Amino acid sequence: MEQIHAQRGTQDILPADAGRWQTVEAVMRGEAEINGFGEIRTPVFEDTRLFQRSVGETTDVVQKEMYTFEDKGGRSVTLKPEGTAGTVRAYLEHGLSNEPMPVKLYYATPCYRYEKAQAGRLREFHQFGAEMFGAALPVADAGLIAFAHSLFERLRVKNLVLKINSIGCPACRAEFTKALRAYFTARRDRLCETCLSRLDRNPMRILDCKNPECAEVAKGAPSILNYLCPDCRAHFGQVRENLDAVGIRYEVDPTMVRGLDYYTRTVFEFVSGDLGAQSTVCGGGRYDGLVEQMGGKPTPALGFALGIERLLMIMAAQKVEFPAPQTCGLYVASVGGAAQKEAFRMAHKLRGCGVAAACDEVGRSLNAQMKYAGKIHARFTLVLGDDELASGKGTVKNMKTGEKTKVDLKADLEGQFAAISSEAEDGDLTF
Ligand code: ATP
Ligand code: MG
Repeated sequence: MEQIHAQRGTQDILPADAGRWQTVEAVMRGEAEINGFGEIRTPVFEDTRLFQRSVGETTDVVQKEMYTFEDKGGRSVTLKPEGTAGTVRAYLEHGLSNEPMPVKLYYATPCYRYEKAQAGRLREFHQFGAEMFGAALPVADAGLIAFAHSLFERLRVKNLVLKINSIGCPACRAEFTKALRAYFTARRDRLCETCLSRLDRNPMRILDCKNPECAEVAKGAPSILNYLCPDCRAHFGQVRENLDAVGIRYEVDPTMVRGLDYYTRTVFEFVSGDLGAQSTVCGGGRYDGLVEQMGGKPTPALGFALGIERLLMIMAAQKVEFPAPQTCGLYVASVGGAAQKEAFRMAHKLRGCGVAAACDEVGRSLNAQMKYAGKIHARFTLVLGDDELASGKGTVKNMKTGEKTKVDLKADLEGQFAAISSEAEDGDLTF
């Protein structure tokens, strides 16, 4: 029979790697709570129009990358390419806008984009994201950036560059768009098809084009920073002052616009040299117009999203150490049918007390059971045979040190085992 393989651009996360995922997710959840964010979980698929309206018709995501299909009821649905749109929809749908501001939400979610799959660029990937509604002050921008920054610090990721920029508000962007259109029109013969179509509708998108020739042309384009209105200029200045106040270093990158249409004012990215071509691990910014655009009342808002696969790639390249996975605490080996049942009974009882206990489930000889216990890195073993059953006495062996401790099989085994294993406690690595 033909074997079916995983889809291009998707990844299986096997137990050997799942521990890393659990570690980074636990750090993210912990940091989110410290920063006052509560978790939101939204559906994987949504009405296609949600993304068209929010992410923007002229973006790569909407023009090229969405997983869109008709369901059996004839509705156009799309697998979420990012987390902000669904979060804003849910925020409005459930009246979270009536709660005291700011409303702070985080998520960890799979995302789907039909992309050319390569290292760090998948079709199913995972984002950790945070969104904040109702906070207009520049200190909120700095606070959100500081939150993302703290995730990397906690995870011991090094050498990230934080790039920030302001892309202004619709008022200052109108003049800028005119200047950009003039600049790119004069160089239109060097632009790709997609960018030609953007020239009329949204020339700012050209600045984010991945086509090398377009990127080359974009290098000489006018800078948005020369077009900011006084309010946007002041806002950006204060974001920087707040970052300075907490010692977070950044570079101002006047060409950065980010890939989604909804951003206003502050945009930022954390970039790594350890990622190859896909260098951005986290991106975000302010999107003051989006909530209103989605049918809510005008609401300042901002957020970021961090790609978990790219984060793990950086951590692997930097050889960041992870805590050792939980291994078997006690392997209860057995010889003979009666002992096997007793081993199972003990293992079950110990598991009920939170001990990772195991017993033979495949019919191995005693010798093979002991070898297996070594392979799964069991910390302790206990052998049950006719003698042990008859005498009610057994011996727990520390597999690392070889140290042996007598136990009374008829008495409180959990208590005896707890005493043995707490004495042998080795300092575990934690984040
Ligand atoms: P890029 O410029 O690399 O295409 P983007 O601007 O499309 O990224 P965002 O929409 O800002 O990315 O998503 C936030 C983060 O999600 C990215 O910084 C990245 O870490 C991650 N990400 C985005 N697309 C992918 C993908 N196809 N595969 C893996 N991670 C991704
Ligand atoms: Mg992209």
